[in-house]
Amino acid sequence: MTRAVDVVVIGAGVAGLSTALGLAATREVLLLSAGDGSTPWAQGGVAAAYGEDDPLDHLLDTDVAGAGFCDPRNVRALVEEGPQRLAELIAQGARFDRNADGSLSRTLEGGHGHPRIVHAGGDATGAEVHRALRSAVQLAGVQTITGRTVGLIQSDTGRIGGVLVEAGGQISQIDARAVVLATGGIGNAYLASTNPSTVCGDGIALALRAGASLVDMEFVQFHPTALFTGETSGQLPLVTEAVRGEGAVLRDIHGRRIMAGRHPRADLAPRDIVAREIEATMRRDGSDHVWLDATAIAPDVLRQRFPTVLASCARIGVDLLSEQIPIAPAEHFLCGGIRTDRNGATDVPGLYAAGEVAATGVHGANRLASNSLLEGLVFGRRVATALTLDLPPTVQGRSHEVALGHDREPERIRAILTKYAGIRRDGAGLNAAGEELEALGNGPLATVARSVIEAATARQESRGCHWRSDYPRSDERWNEHVVVRLDEEDRPTARHLQRAATR
Ligand SMILES: Cc1cc2nc3c(=O)[nH]c(=O)nc-3n(C[C@H](O)[C@H](O)[C@H](O)COP(=O)(O)OP(=O)(O)OC[C@H]3O[C@@H](n4cnc5c(N)ncnc54)[C@H](O)[C@@H]3O)c2cc1C
Repeated sequence: MTRAVDVVVIGAGVAGLSTALGLAATREVLLLSAGDGSTPWAQGGVAAAYGEDDPLDHLLDTDVAGAGFCDPRNVRALVEEGPQRLAELIAQGARFDRNADGSLSRTLEGGHGHPRIVHAGGDATGAEVHRALRSAVQLAGVQTITGRTVGLIQSDTGRIGGVLVEAGGQISQIDARAVVLATGGIGNAYLASTNPSTVCGDGIALALRAGASLVDMEFVQFHPTALFTGETSGQLPLVTEAVRGEGAVLRDIHGRRIMAGRHPRADLAPRDIVAREIEATMRRDGSDHVWLDATAIAPDVLRQRFPTVLASCARIGVDLLSEQIPIAPAEHFLCGGIRTDRNGATDVPGLYAAGEVAATGVHGANRLASNSLLEGLVFGRRVATALTLDLPPTVQGRSHEVALGHDREPERIRAILTKYAGIRRDGAGLNAAGEELEALGNGPLATVARSVIEAATARQESRGCHWRSDYPRSDERWNEHVVVRLDEEDRPTARHLQRAATR
């Protein structure tokens, strides 16, 4: 069965919902999703500089966290358009936490020089953002289908003209003049991640197969404080950075402060720095976790601000109020992704990307906390605006299917990526990973894993969240992007690109 709409949006997280909502009044839009992604799990909040806070300061903090590797024009769009998008979300019914005087309650997170993180339900911000956007999308009459997108329709001249979706055991074709990938990050390509299992990098694999470029794939962010549950695979509960924003500190297994004297912002240093210090501490002590100590924070504050974290702790029998809790870093966020311009257009006509799957350059080499819900709101809307103004022409002529395919040994792929492309990387390990992955075909997870390995191999320096123990310093000579494309044999292949030449 084939049907046709103007735009198909794949993914119902903050980016997909924002895109669909922005298009609802002007275009026939269909929202496809394989289930909930990372958005409802987001805890800490949404960063927004307004009032006495200056968007320019937010821009500077974003660039510092991004190791000077951000695209300044796109960060400017993020910080300047962000407060407006947040105000619209509030007008659509999102309920954020407020102070006694009715003003929005704003907190501090790692890397921010000003308390500008707006939150909801204490530490359940993503759930509230998701709820508000979903009901607005429903109210706007957007059609939705639950199912996995397993392919794209592409004309023989290269233009995208639709998708193949698998739902209820059936595959159907939906034609569209534009397809927007809003499929989130790549958490499920690692053994353990803070992301749910729906977030597996399908959008990345589809875009590559259609001929799009990826950029900055080596910049995978590891959250310093996932709760150490004893499990080494699957989705791990997060302990939001905002707990450290309220005063919690990291300690090694002997009780010594880890971050004191390591960075001017100590426990609130950028994530890559904190994650690296924890990794080094665990390696030095031969331990599988360190401690987060929030016992100096008033119990009422913890109860009010962090009900989700308290519940996760209770599930493994630890009490955030009265004792140190075990934590360890885990894969969390993809800073790079599908290369897009400021309006989400990829290298492939008719194919767009928004949210975590897209690389707009706003995260540079490392994402600043609470900038990604904001990215989804801002860049989802930008894609919608672009497609309202100009919808690509209908595909003419012959077309073919670009299939996602299957992985033969997903667990092995996850294990290889985890072992060789974690917080700490080196050339020998990356080469070994490349060879091991070569034998595992070109299913979607293998394609994602090979893209990360290729990019990490190509960047022979340390920058942001890409840490090479064999090249421990940043090197001005590498002040350029790594772009990954498929070669003639469908192998992800990396090349360097001058920064000025990015889109
Ligand atoms: C535990 C946790 C806490 C976080 N805390 C914060 C925070 O406090 N602040 C912040 O700014 N960010 C936070 N983040 C990051 C942020 O939540 C994500 O970056 C953001 O929500 C991503 O939104 P998205 O719309 O791009 O993708 P997602 O919300 O991940 O949605 C992806 C969608 O794509 C769908 N999909 C994927 N593949 C397919 C396919 N083949 N076919 C159909 N559908 C598909 C999924 O089903 C899902 O609907 C957190 C993330 C996690 C995991």
